[in-house]
Amino acid sequence: MRTSQFPLNTLKESPADAEIVSHKLMLRAGLIRKLAAGMYNWLPLGLRVLRKVERIVREEMDRTGAMEVLMPVVQPAELWQESGRWEFYGPELARLRDRHAREFCLGPTHEEIITDLVRNEVQSYKELPLCYYQIQTKFRDEVRPRFGVMRAREFVMKDAYSFHNDYESLQQTYDAMHEAYSRIFTRLGLEFRPVRADTGAIGGSSSHEFHVLADSGEDAIAFSSASDYAANVELAEAVALPAPEAGAPQPMSLVDTPTQRSIEEVSAHLNVPPSRCLKTLVVKAEDGGVIALLLRGDHELNPIKAEKLHGVAAPLTFASDEEIQGAGSVAGFMGPVGLNIPMLVDRSAANLVNFVSGANQAGKHYINTNWGRDAELPAVVDLRTVQAGDPSPDGQGNLTIARGIEVGHIFQLGTKYSEAMQAQVLDENGQNRTMIMGCYGIGVTRVVAAAIEQNHDDKGVIWPGPIAPFDVCLVPVNMHASETLQAAAEQLYADLKAAGVDVLFDDRKARAGVMFADMELIGIPHRLVISERGLAGGTVEYRGRRDAESQNIPLSDAVAFLR
Ligand code: ATP
Ligand code: MG
Ligand code: MG
Ligand code: MG
Repeated sequence: MRTSQFPLNTLKESPADAEIVSHKLMLRAGLIRKLAAGMYNWLPLGLRVLRKVERIVREEMDRTGAMEVLMPVVQPAELWQESGRWEFYGPELARLRDRHAREFCLGPTHEEIITDLVRNEVQSYKELPLCYYQIQTKFRDEVRPRFGVMRAREFVMKDAYSFHNDYESLQQTYDAMHEAYSRIFTRLGLEFRPVRADTGAIGGSSSHEFHVLADSGEDAIAFSSASDYAANVELAEAVALPAPEAGAPQPMSLVDTPTQRSIEEVSAHLNVPPSRCLKTLVVKAEDGGVIALLLRGDHELNPIKAEKLHGVAAPLTFASDEEIQGAGSVAGFMGPVGLNIPMLVDRSAANLVNFVSGANQAGKHYINTNWGRDAELPAVVDLRTVQAGDPSPDGQGNLTIARGIEVGHIFQLGTKYSEAMQAQVLDENGQNRTMIMGCYGIGVTRVVAAAIEQNHDDKGVIWPGPIAPFDVCLVPVNMHASETLQAAAEQLYADLKAAGVDVLFDDRKARAGVMFADMELIGIPHRLVISERGLAGGTVEYRGRRDAESQNIPLSDAVAFLR
């Protein structure tokens, strides 16, 4: 490509409203232009980077066996009403009406659409597991769009959705996605960390985010000094509480309609600071005691997760409501935020029996587990209140806090959408079975900005090789004054192209200093300078974008050097 045919749109100054370095440099390097708040045009140079990010994401998604689809941006309200999110999502959901006054929204995410698609396409358990993905425009009416494409209203996301017969299968795909994400961010040349995460408006149970570490990151990440524990501080984490005091069992009765108790009430009862209890549920003992707690960010119950998070070792079985009614002492974990779930806790010390936990649907409760023997009482630490130096929730080491940019997020959704929207398959016995789901997002446009936050200097962007708009720039010094030089530069350009090198030839009639500054600003990783003086000695000058010094290499070696 030639700059005479591929105009650079570089700017000397960055517009006043650009606060962080990636936003400034994306404007100055001519990658994007603002259309309206949180909405950007991608110029040709920026689009080359974006497409390279997309290509890596697509290759790694394909490698997991996920299949690419494309769903509409505009989504009918009925599906969102079916899932319950039409009410729940709030003003970030941009709503519109068509000429017949039918309601729609601009998709901020696609759980409803994919669930509808799959419930219609898939009939049998034999067709599962299944994973679809797309790379597509999303719209979120962010309350504070800022930092350019970092927090835009319209942006590109890779979103994938998986459907399963059971939680083991979900866990396999979740793990495969976790690995694929690690490969993607490694290939993108970014320094990143997977962290435990809250599930936000998407819902579901287990969840990890992938963060690019950068001081300008909007999220705070808590790391343990002694283990690989890392979590977004948005999370409220389960921690082990001291064992309950020994004493006589206190029989408890089931409460049909759980009543919320105040956090203060529960925290006093459990002797846990209120900051560690985010939400409370139920529970009356016969002595009138009140116990319960609900973990935020840890909503849905599934056996694998219970085992992982809470160390439940005994085989878990599901019991019916009737069985539980007769169980006497019971104990429980938590249910989804905002739902009324029977959740009973027996803290009658050493001989806790029949540890029973309400899941988020009738007829699903754990029995025959023994709290104290099989599990520890889960309590909550609200990581938003932690400070550097506090003990890590995993009990190992102390926390340090760093800033991160959320570039990816994976969730175990469980049956949140499939149940609300009746996405079922026929099982081995011809019975309906609700599909179990996972979903997996990457902020493709945000990745471009995050890469710059991590890779820049005072001269401009320094692209990681795999996503640079061009690998090499060829800068001739005063070419238009010398036919010999022009011929040599053209020849070198042709040779580089023939060798498959992605080269930008700066054939403008501009001063060398201007060209150098532009090439540094737009961040091309490798620079070749060809001049009359060099030619006389049979050399060209090479400089890597991060190098302090240039080096002369024989002109005849230049192609091999860069290939
Ligand atoms: P954030 O916490 O930054 O608002 P989110 O948790 O709301 O992000 P998800 O619903 O997890 O976002 O969406 C998946 C991915 O989409 C995010 O990990 C992020 O990389 C990207 N993303 C989300 N919102 C935006 C936005 N406003 N602009 C650009 N990318 C975004
Ligand atoms: Mg958000
Ligand atoms: Mg987030
Ligand atoms: Mg997220």
